[in-house]
Amino acid sequence: MNNLTKSEIIEILKDDSQNEQLFSEADKIRKKFVGDEVHLRGLIEFSNICKRTCKYCGLRAENKSISRYRITEDDIVFYAQKAAELGYKTIVLQSGEDEFYSRDIICNIIKKIKELNVALTLSIGERSFDDFKAFKDSGADRYLIRIETTDKELYKKMHPHMDFANRIKCLEYIKELGYEVGTGCLVGLPYQTIESLANDILFFKEINADMVGIGPFISHPDTPLNNAENGSFIQAVKVMAITRIMLPDINIPATTAMETLNPNGRIIALQSGANVVMPNVTSTEYRAKYEIYPNKICINENPVQCRNCIENKIKSIGRTIASDYGFHKKF
Ligand code: SAH
Repeated sequence: MNNLTKSEIIEILKDDSQNEQLFSEADKIRKKFVGDEVHLRGLIEFSNICKRTCKYCGLRAENKSISRYRITEDDIVFYAQKAAELGYKTIVLQSGEDEFYSRDIICNIIKKIKELNVALTLSIGERSFDDFKAFKDSGADRYLIRIETTDKELYKKMHPHMDFANRIKCLEYIKELGYEVGTGCLVGLPYQTIESLANDILFFKEINADMVGIGPFISHPDTPLNNAENGSFIQAVKVMAITRIMLPDINIPATTAMETLNPNGRIIALQSGANVVMPNVTSTEYRAKYEIYPNKICINENPVQCRNCIENKIKSIGRTIASDYGFHKKF
């Protein structure tokens, strides 16, 4: 079952008549391999400044309509401390590709956050091997870098001036350095084919990802893809469910983008293979500005509200909140 072929995956993705069976199969495998505990990761979106021009993303450098911010080193650590007090065992630092945060600055932040007795994930884009190494030596545990799509042509169209081979190299570096490797893809990008989604899933397996995050593409009005149709929520959940079946013991988040397209999206995802949620722990004043896509959830909430809300949702479906760090437990 965890060795579906490309053509089998394509068949599943094309056929919507068996979706309920697919979701319940993924749910069973999730329960068997990673159990009923849900791991919460507190997400700090610390800068929306980005040098890249990814066609789909609202943070792209060419978007002049967005008001930019950078959170200071001290404030990042302060938010992390608040998150740890709320019970988070993992902190995720995410940002645009903002060179203001030099190797030394990031290393300092990592060292201070690691004193809080939490696991730490970085999601700050492509860096050099020496940066990745310094971050790891400073205590970072995981690195998240979605491949976005494994279709090289599409990758090129979506990421002007970026290099698919370099993104792969980054994933190789972080694996080699001993990080837990997080990756993932967007579902429903313009020109994306079902075959390429099947290849994405096979890629996650091939690189032995420890974590895979999958989200639907959501069209942002201030990007070149402003007229494109949104990705399909159901198709994104299907890609996620097949990923669970193919990589039974990894960590899979119910993503915020899913909840943006469906008000019950994260619960549906948690019942279709997901075992992780990444609630926002950034101060409310910054949330609306981290607009990678429009209508992001929770932009008017604060970290305490998000924690309570997600806890209630998780308990309402008979699941519990994990109290450990939530590393990938290999079967
Ligand atoms: N700069 C970091 C973090 C990017 S933001 C990096 O390059 O890794 C995290 C994720 O948001 C991206 O990997 C992308 O998959 C997703 N994202 C960006 N724009 C989006 C959009 N319009 N719709 C859905 N997801 C989007």
